[in-house]
Amino acid sequence: EAKQSGRNRFRFFDVSISQKTQEAFKNIESVKQALENNELRLHYQPKVNLRNGMVIGFEALLRWQHPALGLLPPDAFLPAVERTDVIIDIGDWVIEQTLCQLRIWNAEGHHWPTSVNIAARHFQLPNFVDRLQRLLAKHSDVEPRLLDLEIVESTAIDNLEHVSQCLIDCQQMGVTFSLDDFGTGFSSLNYLKRLPAQTIKIDKSFVRDILHDKDDLALSEAIINLSRTFEREVIAEGVETDLQEKMLLAMGCYLVQGYGIAPPMPAEQVSDWATLYELTHR
Ligand code: C2E
Ligand code: MG
Ligand code: MG
Ligand code: MG
Repeated sequence: EAKQSGRNRFRFFDVSISQKTQEAFKNIESVKQALENNELRLHYQPKVNLRNGMVIGFEALLRWQHPALGLLPPDAFLPAVERTDVIIDIGDWVIEQTLCQLRIWNAEGHHWPTSVNIAARHFQLPNFVDRLQRLLAKHSDVEPRLLDLEIVESTAIDNLEHVSQCLIDCQQMGVTFSLDDFGTGFSSLNYLKRLPAQTIKIDKSFVRDILHDKDDLALSEAIINLSRTFEREVIAEGVETDLQEKMLLAMGCYLVQGYGIAPPMPAEQVSDWATLYELTHR
């Protein structure tokens, strides 16, 4: 009896595992299909300088224009592929798409540095530098200095030595780097010390309660001070209100990004938005 039910339980367990695997595989497949069917889009969110009212650049953020479900945010589909090579194909597509957009903006007289989010798995590839160099060569009319890579710290970096060298090699080509969601990851201070990124992004979870929570205020201030000590640029993300802007300015952080400035928008809206922003803020 016990043996019997044990075997059944085992079988049941076995079946449910394989169903889960199939489910995950389906998701991976469907995201892969989205890339192949040209259903991925980039929206661009501005970064501005509060001191002079200038638009200093943009961040490209991925969307899936799903035929049935509408516009999906990255959190709805990227986790399914984060641990697979699909995230690498998507990352290359995002870089190329951004280089194409930069060429269009350049032709209109705009030279906005634009950042893209790159998964740890992607830039840990042994041939990351070569791949990036190939993409930049293919779009050689675009200055590499206009491309910034935001290091998403959501999965741990295994080989800091290699990644650090990779950053240095990419910087030789002109590409810059930002440490995204700074302060929320596994080992932010170690990354700050070991990775020569030009910019630190204060995570929006600290910015959100900056006026009400003294710990978040203290952490934001500490990050701003760290950025000075280590001679990095600092930018606050998730800025939604005028009071948050004022508080950040008072602490010496004048580069900001957030719904309070503008949400991510399709490329077609960017030029008009930037003209209007600078007209009303300079
Ligand atoms: P992130 O890089 O930290 O991007 C900031 C996220 O905060 C974006 O969400 C943006 O729309 C949102 N945001 C901007 N301003 C505000 C604000 O004022 N308040 C609040 N509450 N949120 C704000 P989104 O576009 O949903 O992206 C989520 C995350 O997905 C990104 O976080 C990034 O880690 C990842 N991601 C986005 N695009 C890509 C991509 O092309 N490749 C990879 N690997 N990851 C991506
Ligand atoms: Mg980012
Ligand atoms: Mg971020
Ligand atoms: Mg984030």
